[in-house]
Amino acid sequence: PTASGELKRLLTEIPDFPKPGILFRDVAPVFADGAAFRVIVDELVARFAGRFDAVAGVEARGFVLAAAAAYATGTGLLVVRKAGKLPGEVIAESYDLEYGTATLELEPNQLAPGARVLVLDDILATGGTLRAAASLIERAGYTVAGIGVLFELAELDGRTKLSGYDTEVLLAE
Ligand code: IMP
Repeated sequence: PTASGELKRLLTEIPDFPKPGILFRDVAPVFADGAAFRVIVDELVARFAGRFDAVAGVEARGFVLAAAAAYATGTGLLVVRKAGKLPGEVIAESYDLEYGTATLELEPNQLAPGARVLVLDDILATGGTLRAAASLIERAGYTVAGIGVLFELAELDGRTKLSGYDTEVLLAE
């Protein structure tokens, strides 16, 4: 089985979540299938093989992917969190949502300056979330080795916001 085939088979569409009119892609069945989970994590890692020193996951489903990828490659893990969760010194990046704004945060000074960080999340929609996460990595003094996601909602053109980054998507629709 391939990563894209497993995603096609297991990604589930949930209408009207979290709001009426939104078709939510649910990755829970992908995480719940042990063989599929291994194939998709291995594929994400393979696309960036040898090109990263640490992995960053975006809260919350990005944590799942990033932890597995970091463990599989013996690299470190950074967590990019929603506002207000991290202690001590944090750097913050806000970005626009359809209605309102969101903020992501990172604890700096965890890796050597210039460390190459692979940023992972489950879904690429408008690209705002991953762009903010990538900005935090750079503001912390690291380099973005690339951005990896399982699924891209291609009609939203989130790639435009991520131009300049090596973005790898396992399945787009
Ligand atoms: P963006 O910032 O518009 O690209 O949205 C991406 C973020 O929202 C990611 O952290 C995703 O986990 C989440 N997201 C957006 N759409 C979906 C979806 O259909 N299913 C699951 N998560 C989604």
